[in-house]
Amino acid sequence: MRIRLKTIGAIILNALLPRTCVHCAEDLPAGTEQPLCWACLSSLERPEEPLCPACGLPGEEGPCAACRAAARPFDVARSAFLFTPPVRSLTHAFKYSGRRALARPLALLMAAELARRPELSGFDAVAPVPLHPSRERRRGYNQAALLARELAGVSGLAFEPGALRRVRATRPQVDLRRKERLENVRGAFEAGPAAGGRRFLVVDDVATTLATAGEAARALKEAGAAGAAVFTLAREP
Ligand SMILES: [Zn+2]
Ligand SMILES: [Zn+2]
Repeated sequence: MRIRLKTIGAIILNALLPRTCVHCAEDLPAGTEQPLCWACLSSLERPEEPLCPACGLPGEEGPCAACRAAARPFDVARSAFLFTPPVRSLTHAFKYSGRRALARPLALLMAAELARRPELSGFDAVAPVPLHPSRERRRGYNQAALLARELAGVSGLAFEPGALRRVRATRPQVDLRRKERLENVRGAFEAGPAAGGRRFLVVDDVATTLATAGEAARALKEAGAAGAAVFTLAREP
């Protein structure tokens, strides 16, 4: 009877906590907090130097074409990982499959990267890129806010979920070209006077052109923030 209860317990626990790698479905060792198996975890790629000094695009000896074409509204932008297939699986599970519990292990990976990047030091507050309220209601949560909260907690920074507000809805960026993306998000955010004098890390899950996170940084600076950097889990080339 005792064994049977144990088995039932294990079945319930497994149902509550999926114990397989989010990317390759390999079984995970009991007790691990990691969402990836060892092979997938060790395949993650960091953006390594040389990087564009402004936006962090890998493979650039100086400012990249986009940063030369127009001044960026953020001080600097960096990402913990390149958007390789395991990262795609992670962000998809986190964003669209309701796997909110991924926020903590993902934020721990981001915190390690934050600690090793001197260009991201000296910031005192973490502000998530806000979703429009109607989209957040549909999804039930803002994945950027979950990441930002955990990152602030493990890194000893202030979590400021109310620093930015999305003041208008925007079309999904995914089908738009770079120039259209910039126009689509222009003026989408507002920051309050509480941002004044503070140095923010703007946190999002995936950056592509950095148009959205850049607009968030612009709003913080227009409200008097002393600094605004962008830090994302992943960077799409
Ligand atoms: Zn795996
Ligand atoms: Zn650049």
